[in-house]
Amino acid sequence: MKSINVLGQVYKIKMVKGMNEKTGAIGLCDAEKSLISLDSSLKGKYLRRVLLHEIAHAFAFESGLYEFMNQQSSEMFAQSLSSFLVQLKNQLFP
Ligand SMILES: [Zn+2]
Repeated sequence: MKSINVLGQVYKIKMVKGMNEKTGAIGLCDAEKSLISLDSSLKGKYLRRVLLHEIAHAFAFESGLYEFMNQQSSEMFAQSLSSFLVQLKNQLFP
């Protein structure tokens, strides 16, 4: 299992078989358990995007930003930060 350090907190990254069927989600960030779960069917570019989205949720939690967000703004934040990180990586390391 891979893990990633988010602002000093280590999150485990777990691939879960059949997660989408069971939970209706392809990615989840459980900040209480410091665990990011991803559906095992995800691959390549899409897998990286979903992972970055969940890492953005972890970032919002660890930075304390989540306290100022509702569900909708939390999703907007995760979506825009993950897109920005992909765009930044492509600009810096084409
Ligand atoms: Zn989300």
